[in-house]
Amino acid sequence: MMNIEKCWKKDAMSYASECYPEESCGIVAKKNNKEIFWKCKNIAHDFKLEAFVIDPNDWIECEDNADEIVGIVHNHPDGELQFSDTDKISCKELDLTFYLVDPISDRMIKIEPKEVKC
Ligand SMILES: [Zn+2]
Repeated sequence: MMNIEKCWKKDAMSYASECYPEESCGIVAKKNNKEIFWKCKNIAHDFKLEAFVIDPNDWIECEDNADEIVGIVHNHPDGELQFSDTDKISCKELDLTFYLVDPISDRMIKIEPKEVKC
């Protein structure tokens, strides 16, 4: 499904390894016509959720620094490379492309809001 090698993929992978065993999350943003990966703090633990919640401060900071937010990246440590129902709903709600990375197998999958059937 991935036709082009995303240049930020490496950054997202190494960030996911860095965050292990916790779930990592980040934003894909466009800056000067280039897609970049913006590291975000996962504050899900503050809410005792088994998911990811992007720190709103990181979101604001990213918006201020980049031209446009285009996607969300996260990973499932020790989990399957498969979007959960919560991921799909968030994808649809935020209307952003969702990426799931697995630094161990070096694989990445994505889902578009229009692919989510509710
Ligand atoms: Zn997920």
